[in-house]
Amino acid sequence: MEEYFYIGQKVVAIKDHSLGDYKIGDEFTILDMKTFCCYVGINFEKLSIPCITHCPDCNIHHNNLDGFYYDQKNFAPLGNLSNMSFEDAIKLVTKKELTV
Ligand SMILES: [Zn+2]
Repeated sequence: MEEYFYIGQKVVAIKDHSLGDYKIGDEFTILDMKTFCCYVGINFEKLSIPCITHCPDCNIHHNNLDGFYYDQKNFAPLGNLSNMSFEDAIKLVTKKELTV
């Protein structure tokens, strides 16, 4: 299953960060994205200090000069589901069944 992220998108954490930088349910807006060795990193806060991001898969530390980049796999896009209410979703399904 492929998730598509883009700058400016609102996302929600679906995993707790190992060091507690975020936890499940926290919402963020993507400010920047970068491709690293094994993952796409997403940035929520521009910092002017060097930030080290660790890749657990190949045990490499990446040095970023503009903030922390977190693995996009730990986040899900916000909006795709919440834009549609439960009632609207039911209507859509019901309508489909009627026209078949
Ligand atoms: Zn890696």
